[in-house]
Amino acid sequence: MMNQKIKNAATSALSFLFPSVCINCGRVLIERGNCGIKTKELQICTSCLCKLPVRLSTERWFPCLSEPYGDDPIPDFSVWALFHYEMPVTLLVKRLKFFSEIYCGQLLADLMGREFPKNTPVKWDAVVPVPLSEKRLRKRGYNQAEVLAKGLSEHLGVPLCNNVIRKVRHTKQQSRYQDPQQRSQNVQGAYAVDENWDITGWNIILVDDILTTGATLHEAAKVLFENGASAVVGAVCATHRENIEN
Ligand SMILES: [Zn+2]
Repeated sequence: MMNQKIKNAATSALSFLFPSVCINCGRVLIERGNCGIKTKELQICTSCLCKLPVRLSTERWFPCLSEPYGDDPIPDFSVWALFHYEMPVTLLVKRLKFFSEIYCGQLLADLMGREFPKNTPVKWDAVVPVPLSEKRLRKRGYNQAEVLAKGLSEHLGVPLCNNVIRKVRHTKQQSRYQDPQQRSQNVQGAYAVDENWDITGWNIILVDDILTTGATLHEAAKVLFENGASAVVGAVCATHRENIEN
């Protein structure tokens, strides 16, 4: 009992000295925001939460046709995106990817998990993140897609299977290329399903951070289908507004 009291006193002293702050604007967080959202749990203040560029619920699903130049083997592959790739999501994703601020990704992951449709007729078997190459994983220390996939896994109660897909060759960063055809060529043959997994008949949610042309997700989904998956949908944190408008 005494130990618990000491623990509680230590916790309140620590939270007084180091209060939880909004990861976007730095404002000290109160237990509940004024609309009942547990801002402390989410690590974002109500004001910043309301300003996130969330897509309308009717604009979150769209086809991921990234191979318009040849016979697309999976023309029906669809992707779900929660946000427009605009501030402050742009910055939160960059902090996750390039500044090791994993908690920025955890916030986005949590919001993705809360918003991803729950009552779909499909029973999902696995949440699978798009992998990094060994080289990039060693350099960064973590896979940002896996951070996001964890949020979906936890909220949907679907297992996170983070090594189903392996990156079998190192590719140049997609951001080097603007041209959709070049981006598609850059990732061709880059992924394979790990031989330890039998995914025959599986329904899979494939997760990545940002969707630009869709080349990466499309290539990763292709190997899942080639290895017997029944259904694959993509889920990304954000995509550019023009992806919907085109
Ligand atoms: Zn804020």
